[in-house]
Amino acid sequence: MEPAIHWFRRDLRLADHHAVAKASAGGRAVIGLFVLDPTILHGPDVGASRLRYLLEALASLDEGLRGRGSALVIRRGAPREVVPKVAAETGARLVTAVRDFGPYARTRDETVARLLSRAGRSLWLSAEQLVLDPTGLPPVRTFSACRKRFHSALAEGLAPAPTSAHFLSVPALPRSDPSPSPAEFGLPPTHQVVEAGEGAAANRLRTFVDRGLGGYAADREDPGADATSRLSADLHFGTISVRTAIRAALKAARESPHVSTGVSRWLDQLAWRDFFAATLWHFPEVATQEYKPELRNLRWPGTMEALQVWKQGMTGYPLVDAAMRQLQAEHFMHNRCRMIAASFLVKDLHLDWRHGERHFMRELVDGDLANNNGGWQWVAGTGLDAQPYFRILNPVLQGETHDPSGTYVRRWVPELRQLPDRYIHRPWEAPTAPAAYPRRIVDHVRERLVALELYRACTRPSISKSIER
Ligand SMILES: Cc1cc2nc3c(=O)[nH]c(=O)nc-3n(C[C@H](O)[C@H](O)[C@H](O)COP(=O)(O)OP(=O)(O)OC[C@H]3O[C@@H](n4cnc5c(N)ncnc54)[C@H](O)[C@@H]3O)c2cc1C
Repeated sequence: MEPAIHWFRRDLRLADHHAVAKASAGGRAVIGLFVLDPTILHGPDVGASRLRYLLEALASLDEGLRGRGSALVIRRGAPREVVPKVAAETGARLVTAVRDFGPYARTRDETVARLLSRAGRSLWLSAEQLVLDPTGLPPVRTFSACRKRFHSALAEGLAPAPTSAHFLSVPALPRSDPSPSPAEFGLPPTHQVVEAGEGAAANRLRTFVDRGLGGYAADREDPGADATSRLSADLHFGTISVRTAIRAALKAARESPHVSTGVSRWLDQLAWRDFFAATLWHFPEVATQEYKPELRNLRWPGTMEALQVWKQGMTGYPLVDAAMRQLQAEHFMHNRCRMIAASFLVKDLHLDWRHGERHFMRELVDGDLANNNGGWQWVAGTGLDAQPYFRILNPVLQGETHDPSGTYVRRWVPELRQLPDRYIHRPWEAPTAPAAYPRRIVDHVRERLVALELYRACTRPSISKSIER
């Protein structure tokens, strides 16, 4: 029987994989193919930490396939050339893949599907990256509507994990290009920020379910507690299936009712992935411009010097600086801190949110077009169902609420370690200014008013209420 190809992209696992199961249905042997696409790998948004994760996840996938007598076939080039070519070489009439929702992926897949079909072959896409398949649903305009659909889908029951597939054995595989090495991307041989791959993702899930879910509802907003799952890079690269993660959480809730509040809060967070991916699918223009047309002419008078100061974590606002330094060191940032740091760039430094979006994309190990763009547009007030622009996060009040004893700030800003708690988020009020820590780059109280003016100049004058949190 002819083989089938499964084209791996952001689904770098073997477990709980419906598209691989489809490829293998009816006894077909599966060829696992990964295409090193220069348009993505050398694109402006790719950063070292995400590349490193990708390379390790590919190595782990190859190891998993070798454990089954097969191996990952790697080819370099444009998918529109490579995929039809490998299909022709192997005689595979079916190519399966997991659908991705960004504009580039969409055009790429349409082109590959067309070229395969011309040769009498087909591309079959599963929507298993998410719980809800946005391609089959009308767009939702609010997160709460998406969340409702998401929970209804869970109540109806998730498709069970398919049984494992059969892969083509090594001698019968088509030629593979050499595996990519860190050196060819200019990455140092050892620098590793997070362990990547299917096994590491499964361990992270297990640890979170055993130790984190119970306290998630209470502690998730406390960056010092570090109480979230840290599964975002795994979910981005699909080294774990979102269904596996959800099943594990639901099982924990059934077995220990005291974790059920944590589970439902965590599922709500996962619903944001579906919301932002659906937004990108239905409104692909958000990748480059504001969802709200009335905010497309905002003025951004901020300076490039201020952008550098923000990137370096030297703004003089402790929580913003701690967040930016966590990003530099771990290539990860706590969600509450992403909101505060992003708000500061847009509303206090008056810089275009796209500068921040690009920087996060390059730095974050979990950098994800839909979630990152969605997060930035939410903070900037420009997105679908975004925070209203007049809600401006106060970095001092946010710090005092979410990091009251300064645990997070002290972890990342050593210059402030000795400061008493009452000054930790407002060091400029301390009787002795901490040496080596910068003065405030701006005065938040003043810049908040400037931001309101800039936004009001773009919108209807009737919206004039300002809320300080
Ligand atoms: C400005 C900004 C930029 C962001 N950029 C990204 C990004 O590039 N990639 C990314 O995955 N997330 C992004 N987020 C969302 C969120 O901050 C991270 O998903 C979360 O901090 C990851 O940590 P965790 O895995 O421990 O999350 P948990 O709290 O354990 O949540 C579980 C999972 O739910 C998803 N999730 C949680 N919160 C959100 C959210 N607000 N939006 C979308 N999905 C969410 C993630 O997949 C996460 O792994 C961004 C948020 C903001 C405000």
